[in-house]
Amino acid sequence: MNPNNSQTLTANGQDLASSSNQTPGEDASAVLKPSTLVRNLKPPKPENAITIAVSARVLFNMEKEQQSYEQQGMKEYIKYQGEHETQPFSPGPAFSFVKALEAVNTRLRELYPESEELFDVVVMTNNQEYIDQRLINNINHHQLRFCMIEGNHTYHTNLYLSADPVKVRKALKEGIAAATMFTPEKITEVSETQLHVTFDGDGVLFSDESERIFNKEGLDKFLENEKTHENKPLGHGPLKGFLEALGKLQKKFYGKGQRMDCPIQTYLVTARDEGISGIRAKNTLQSWGLEIDKTYFLAGAPKGPTLEKIRPHIFFDDKMSHVEGAAKMGIVACHVPYGEANSESHKKGINDKETSPLPKVA
Ligand SMILES: [Mg+2]
Repeated sequence: MNPNNSQTLTANGQDLASSSNQTPGEDASAVLKPSTLVRNLKPPKPENAITIAVSARVLFNMEKEQQSYEQQGMKEYIKYQGEHETQPFSPGPAFSFVKALEAVNTRLRELYPESEELFDVVVMTNNQEYIDQRLINNINHHQLRFCMIEGNHTYHTNLYLSADPVKVRKALKEGIAAATMFTPEKITEVSETQLHVTFDGDGVLFSDESERIFNKEGLDKFLENEKTHENKPLGHGPLKGFLEALGKLQKKFYGKGQRMDCPIQTYLVTARDEGISGIRAKNTLQSWGLEIDKTYFLAGAPKGPTLEKIRPHIFFDDKMSHVEGAAKMGIVACHVPYGEANSESHKKGINDKETSPLPKVA
């Protein structure tokens, strides 16, 4: 499915994974079934589920609505939403990712009908003054859970995706795997049946301890350090837990003889080289008991062309330059504002890329 195409929404409430079975003639003018406005916004999470929280603004493209709110105020916004209550939103940057999670869930339910070890997607919004019936109709249509965040509260989850870097930083500080999601101008088409998740190494899966040496003392000292500590695992980065969660679900497929046909594929795309620095990365993953399906050691080369080949549903990096490079290739890229290079003090005096026009914030 083309994520830029709003034909993904259907009128009969079927879930995202089955939207490829849509009836002919369904199009952007499809209407949503109005749902009862329910204030029970946080139903219990299924046991052992891997929770993925996405903000409504990254799941759906609500740019027009946002503009109406910013330019005309809340009253006009409410009026506009009321008039369009049964109209689907266009897909946002997280839409294909969520759809792929649902496709994995469908396969898991076939293999393990009794198990609740699945992805559990929760749509987050912090619109406290007004509960948007149109948004609720859209969320219910896709059979997703909904959670309204109040004040500065953080929702504990295996992964949190938002367009708001302030909220993402707060979540990271609380130890939650979190990233700021950006919208490329045109999103590259991705697989509907196999989830591709791509991680950077340092500052994402790994801590930034070695990167700090590289930044302060240069390449030679960095390589010397990696050689000396070749067998000493790197510290945990903020997304390590999410890779672990993916690995747990992958093993369920392997257990049923579906290693070759596993609907979850993980990738490491790192600026490390295949030599000394790559060996430490491999040793670290091995010591954690974690597997990556495919690793690309780029030795500092741009990541965009490799990502274009992988076509990930989501790519995580702690450097905005890589996020921007990926977005230019149409990849849905997320910034992980972690480590010294992303600290507020380090950023003083340099451009805050999070507010740069490219890629635009969802
Ligand atoms: Mg990095």
